[in-house]
Amino acid sequence: MDALLSFDNISFSYPMADAGPVKVLDGVSLAIGAGEFVAIVGHNGSGKSTLAKMTNAILLPDSGRMLVSGMDTRDEEKLLEIRQSVGMVFQNPDNQIVATVVEEDVAFALENLGVPSDEIRRRVDRALETVGMSKYAMHAPHRLSGGQKQRVAIAGVIAMRPRCIVLDEPTAMLDPVGRSEVMDTIAQLNRQYGITIVLITHHMNEAARCGRLVVMNKGVVEMDGPPREVFGRYDDMRALGLSVPQPFELAHQLGLDGAQALTVEECADAIYRWLA
Ligand code: ADP
Repeated sequence: MDALLSFDNISFSYPMADAGPVKVLDGVSLAIGAGEFVAIVGHNGSGKSTLAKMTNAILLPDSGRMLVSGMDTRDEEKLLEIRQSVGMVFQNPDNQIVATVVEEDVAFALENLGVPSDEIRRRVDRALETVGMSKYAMHAPHRLSGGQKQRVAIAGVIAMRPRCIVLDEPTAMLDPVGRSEVMDTIAQLNRQYGITIVLITHHMNEAARCGRLVVMNKGVVEMDGPPREVFGRYDDMRALGLSVPQPFELAHQLGLDGAQALTVEECADAIYRWLA
């Protein structure tokens, strides 16, 4: 089966005025299938955002190819289709809000595409319902909490009916309540609607909720596997300066090797078994 997102030996450098170009992506190959829920973690500057920007042709590879459902992001004729297939959500919800009423904000991109107004109405209602924001349809976005704003931004993306959503640290500016609202919404989009999710995050407990975890380091994919397996390489993660989820860390510190506790419950179970 063809991958939905196929990073094929991609290298990329930002053009620099003074110093020479620095390679930010160095031969990245990664295939992400339809319906996957993938987290990408890595140090600041490891190339995660740059990788994300490849997926809907914000950036183009210097060498190698980026394919979205088999469409090359260099193919200008496919640009619209690519951008409809892959929606992006960024860190700062305030930068993504364009209208003064929530439902107008969600409708914005559809209006630009010339979607008929009854179809817009249906899609906006459905999108707001999906992210649990229907009752705020007529509210002013700037008065919402960070988590609510980010869910409105997600509604704007899903109204376009994308096959995939790439989220670049969507919870970084949110409080714990906002973070869990957004994470629950993302998980639901994947589980219930089969939307492919690529989530860039610094929060290892968020990464633990994904089906697959990719670790970037210095422009290359350093590790790629189920979260349990990747976090299980504890020493490798530490060597990259990365943490593991707290329950995992605690189980490790207690010497409960092999416990691989991703959640508080799993950690409690492991401690219980140990005490027994
Ligand atoms: P990450 O998302 O993992 O923090 P980025 O992809 O944002 O990594 O950045 C990788 C490297 O590219 C960093 O060293 C960063 O400073 C540099 N970089 C990012 N964006 C630009 C840009 N627009 N111009 C020049 N350098 C950039």
